[in-house]
Amino acid sequence: MGLNYTIDCRHCGSHTEYRASTNRRTLRVDAERLSSHIDTECAMRCPVCRTKLNTSEADFRAQVKISFDA
Ligand SMILES: [Zn+2]
Repeated sequence: MGLNYTIDCRHCGSHTEYRASTNRRTLRVDAERLSSHIDTECAMRCPVCRTKLNTSEADFRAQVKISFDA
């Protein structure tokens, strides 16, 4: 069970996939939070060039895809 992140960085062109394991409780909270609100205060960065990916909600949605597996 976890969250799968796919990051396509516009800055350096890198494509990164990673999986964040989580327990059921955390996953549900994350799913609710992610579906209703993109946090642009807490920086999410490209793992390659460290460019901030969530400068705005539009930037986040353009560069980061999140899926869930159960
Ligand atoms: Zn990058």
